[in-house]
Amino acid sequence: MADQPTKRAPKHRPETLAARALGWIDPSGAVVPPINPSTTYARAPDYTLIGGRSYSRDDSAAYLQPEALLAALEGGSGAMLFASGMAATAAAFQALNPGDHVVVQRDLYYGLPKWLSGWAEPWGVKPSFIPTGDIAALESAVRKDKTKLVWIETPANPSWAVTDIAAAAKIAHRAGARLAVDSTAATPVLTRPIGLGADIVMHSATKFLNGHSDVVAGALVAARDDDYWQRVRYVRQLGGAVLGPFESWLLLRGMRTLHLRVRQQSENALMIATRFRRHRKLKTVCYPGLPDSPGHAAAARQMHGGYGGMLSLRFKGGPKAVLKFAARLQVFVRATSLGGVESLVEHRGSVEGPDSTVPHDLLRVSVGVEHVDDLIADLDQAFAAI
Ligand SMILES: *Cc1c(COP(=O)(O)O)cnc(C)c1O
Repeated sequence: MADQPTKRAPKHRPETLAARALGWIDPSGAVVPPINPSTTYARAPDYTLIGGRSYSRDDSAAYLQPEALLAALEGGSGAMLFASGMAATAAAFQALNPGDHVVVQRDLYYGLPKWLSGWAEPWGVKPSFIPTGDIAALESAVRKDKTKLVWIETPANPSWAVTDIAAAAKIAHRAGARLAVDSTAATPVLTRPIGLGADIVMHSATKFLNGHSDVVAGALVAARDDDYWQRVRYVRQLGGAVLGPFESWLLLRGMRTLHLRVRQQSENALMIATRFRRHRKLKTVCYPGLPDSPGHAAAARQMHGGYGGMLSLRFKGGPKAVLKFAARLQVFVRATSLGGVESLVEHRGSVEGPDSTVPHDLLRVSVGVEHVDDLIADLDQAFAAI
């Protein structure tokens, strides 16, 4: 697991970078890196570190290859892995100072507003919440030189509302703030936020990046290596939300097939959304790939090669119809999370409880890589039963 020369072939396309995991070859000749579980590293008699590393919370060799690959795919200057998507998110806010103002979308991954009110606000971060996807609301919410971070998620869980990243970046930068984008649902296959002006990209790597529902991990990618990024590193080292070597290894393995998976998932999702968009038992299908969806114009500008594997169905019959429908599914698994190769459905209303801001008639669908005819047949028979 020696550090590799960083000379990478800049002309290689993202698919090639990912499939080859940047083409790193272990000194033994191994094409796949070994897993090194050591937490501690030996010193020579003169007390210098033999390999340059001391302790794996500070700096783990297991991160080098997956971080370099993710940074390359996102077009960032560097990436940092974390123990989870929430740990990565928390680090992005903890690198601010108490008193700093932040602007955050109201409807997005539910853990973020919860963590902000439960931890970050008492600590001193001052959030303003804006409607998801609303650029005019962002413009009036930012405060010149007071706002330090604008946090958007696009497409946003679970409405899959789209925010114009380039427009959000301009507004954030005019106010002197950084723009952070939770790009979990888009992945670098479909959207590269840094190229559109974002300063930080966040991934719940648990989802599409790993893609096999067997690792909890998170990542931040930075447009540039600056003081803020060094503070993020400090938060990871001393806050300690680090990823283990086995999880890092699985994540790299998963990322090698990212493009194949995300393209198939996007294609399946578009076919499902198109097929059921006018179903008589549905109010609407939320999917940015549908030409009449509210976010489609922005999505078409910033998503390339597909609109992602996530969609939501809203049922005319309300939560009762949703639960009856979900109960009948045989291919789709009733389970939380998303982005894996197997298709899942989730009724956020049941999971989040009565305080949930998610409409209770909504069923979130994570589309996998199964044959789309089997997925459509499963949905058809469940519709027939309600
Ligand atoms: C799952 C998820 C998170 C949180 O990530 P964890 O890895 O579960 O901590 C954040 N944002 C989005 C969009 C997610 O789907």
